[in-house]
Amino acid sequence: MPDFLPYGRQTIEADDVAAVAAALTDDYLTTGPRVEAYEAAFAQAAGAAHAVASNSGTAALHLPLLALGLGPGEAVVVPSITFVATANVVRMTGAEVVFADVDPMTGLMTPDTLRAALAETPPAGTRIVGAMPVHLNGQLCDMAGLGALAAERGLWLVEDACHAIGAAAAGACRHSRAAAFSTHPVKGITTGEGGVTTTADPALADHMRRLRSHGLVREPASFMRPDMAFEDGQTQPWYYELPEIGWNYRIPDVLCALGLSQLAKLPRLHARRAHLAGLYARLVAPLAPGIALVPRGERPDGWHLLVALIDFARFGTTRAQVMAALRREAIGTQVHYIPVHEQPYYRDRYGPRRLAGADAYYARCLSLPFFPQMTDDDVARVAAALKRSVGA
Ligand SMILES: *Cc1c(COP(=O)(O)O)cnc(C)c1O
Repeated sequence: MPDFLPYGRQTIEADDVAAVAAALTDDYLTTGPRVEAYEAAFAQAAGAAHAVASNSGTAALHLPLLALGLGPGEAVVVPSITFVATANVVRMTGAEVVFADVDPMTGLMTPDTLRAALAETPPAGTRIVGAMPVHLNGQLCDMAGLGALAAERGLWLVEDACHAIGAAAAGACRHSRAAAFSTHPVKGITTGEGGVTTTADPALADHMRRLRSHGLVREPASFMRPDMAFEDGQTQPWYYELPEIGWNYRIPDVLCALGLSQLAKLPRLHARRAHLAGLYARLVAPLAPGIALVPRGERPDGWHLLVALIDFARFGTTRAQVMAALRREAIGTQVHYIPVHEQPYYRDRYGPRRLAGADAYYARCLSLPFFPQMTDDDVARVAAALKRSVGA
């Protein structure tokens, strides 16, 4: 039996191990000098002015919403084809979610599906203040189109770029207030758990750094209680202040050591993914029209997931049968994602909704093994097994 191929897998090499081992015996395990170094390197790689590192992609999505002051009485548009965290962070602020439909071929929110969501009546007592495009699979959304619509309607955009590490300038935020990345092991690079938020706005970056550590302020110029902060014109040496509540979203220094080492190899990992995607495209093309890969466009790509769209009924089979057949050949697959508006929590809260594009994408999608250490032969093995699994 050949080695099992999961749908995604981290790349940890000897230099990553050495970097972590060196950090472990340093003075700092949590916030230390490597956090800033990692943020600077990440900003550079993502084409961003500022980067704020945190301890998960979910934290990296939550922080900009908190810093933008999102809360009860407001609503945010989120595409239904995404990981639940994109919607959950909106609810974590007390705001409500309005689910947008997606293009059935790409799974992406488009200017048209955003416009349709904005035409909906938002939950009672709320108004829509922003939207969160998701760069699903690594495909960048039409940010210029979404940005133009958002500007016209007075909305902000926060990008869920958790799939887009490595896409050229994915973090530049030319059309958004912020972009959030994840470094979970299946993503483009990993720190175990981790996230980074990028922004072009220095004040927003500062605010997110405060909210990342409980909301505490240590700069004397910002103190609101001079009676407690100062004595004889001197700042009390122990003093800090809590003007608003935040979280503990700090990323440990030791994980930033791993992040720095991973970032150095991002161009190589990304190039390998692009190569494997090209190989898949060639090998799966003959299986059309029953099987097609999600079409990857002209825009830069993070190459996170490699997704086949399969017309299971046409082959007289089901997705569960195809997944089981592939598993018998030591090939792992996954479904990204169950439409979030169908999750019991959201269906109970907002009632049943029909989003035809999301349903169509969900009905056909299957993520195939896709990670940098795969060999060209591995891709050929998956393509051949996929063909057998549908009886083609
Ligand atoms: C992974 C992911 C997240 C959350 O990231 P974590 O690091 O797991 O918290 C959010 N959105 C999308 C689209 C993701 O893939």
